Amino acid sequence: MSASNAVPRPLTGPFASVVGQPRVREFLSAAVGKGAVSQAYLFIGPPGSGKTDAALALAAAVLCEKGGCGACESCVRVARRTHPDVHYFSPASASGYIVDQIREIVRDTALSPVRGTRKVYIIDRVDRLTASAANAFLKTLEEPPADVVFILLGRTREQVLATIASRCQVVPFRRIPPHEATAMLVRLTGCSELQGHQALAAVGGSISKARTFMLSTARRDVRHTVLQVLGTLVGSDDLDVLEAARSLTTVAKAPLDALRSDQEAQLKESGDYLERSALKALEERQKRELSVQGRDGLLELLNITRSWLRDLLIMVVEGDGRLVVNVDAQASLRRVAPTTRPEGVTRAIAAVDKAALRIAYHVTPQLVIETMLFDIREVLSCPWS
Ligand SMILES: [Zn+2]
Repeated sequence: MSASNAVPRPLTGPFASVVGQPRVREFLSAAVGKGAVSQAYLFIGPPGSGKTDAALALAAAVLCEKGGCGACESCVRVARRTHPDVHYFSPASASGYIVDQIREIVRDTALSPVRGTRKVYIIDRVDRLTASAANAFLKTLEEPPADVVFILLGRTREQVLATIASRCQVVPFRRIPPHEATAMLVRLTGCSELQGHQALAAVGGSISKARTFMLSTARRDVRHTVLQVLGTLVGSDDLDVLEAARSLTTVAKAPLDALRSDQEAQLKESGDYLERSALKALEERQKRELSVQGRDGLLELLNITRSWLRDLLIMVVEGDGRLVVNVDAQASLRRVAPTTRPEGVTRAIAAVDKAALRIAYHVTPQLVIETMLFDIREVLSCPWS
């Protein structure tokens, strides 16, 4: 990779959405500019470093006649994730990619593009490719059909199988420090610093996810409900907890409505030019996308819970509300803090981690949330245990 230019430049051009990664931006722009886009990239970086945004920007640049103008129908579709020649995959099971999923990708690469002249496959979490799934993929990755570009995303180089990494051009992404992420979010959305903190805490640190979080009333409603439930949890009876779990499960599903209607529109429109088998594959993919988003929504709910508990810990240890992130929950934090011990909060955070694991293993959401709320209530209500 070339060294980054020291002079800051305005964020324009096809890779403007790749925030906080100037070297990546320059590297990819140069490849597109020279017409030297490789057929297999491996983007390596921690969560929140902007790999998905960069992958979508590269896909747009590859498919757009003007190298990623950001305004044409193709570019808009890529950004909205409705371009039929850009395919996004993530692990279908808690243990990683299943071999069938990889076979489906391999089969798909042999088909012609639907709209453009090329196809882009974004394959997330390749650190979770099992050896058998990877084996099913190696040949295609080594010699992809001429019209195919693979963009693989992984968290660390060590976690990606060497057989996969060696067949790709590796692009490292740096970790973006939290204060920098907040500053970028403020600049991009015009939100306050505090709103930026809260959104980043809810989504686990990703700037692009925090941006979409801010635009979604349904997701902000989830946050509001979570904080409300947590604020009244200590002192509530079993029936209240069950009711709270039910309302959280319902509100966590609401953000999926937008995706569902997008999918319906895409399916309807694709019916005009896709063959029956391709349409069926699209439906399957949409179903998986919906379940992945559902899982993400639950994890977001847990992130919010964790951030409230961290605030509580700060209140308990420091006795000071000025450092809390969830300022709108300060009243309830002040109420709960005096009877809470740090150990109780630590155990509550462990209960949230346990819930995250159970979601990964597809335990029914309502059951996961119920158990978590009962656990948290117990450890927060028994300060001297
Ligand atoms: Zn364009």
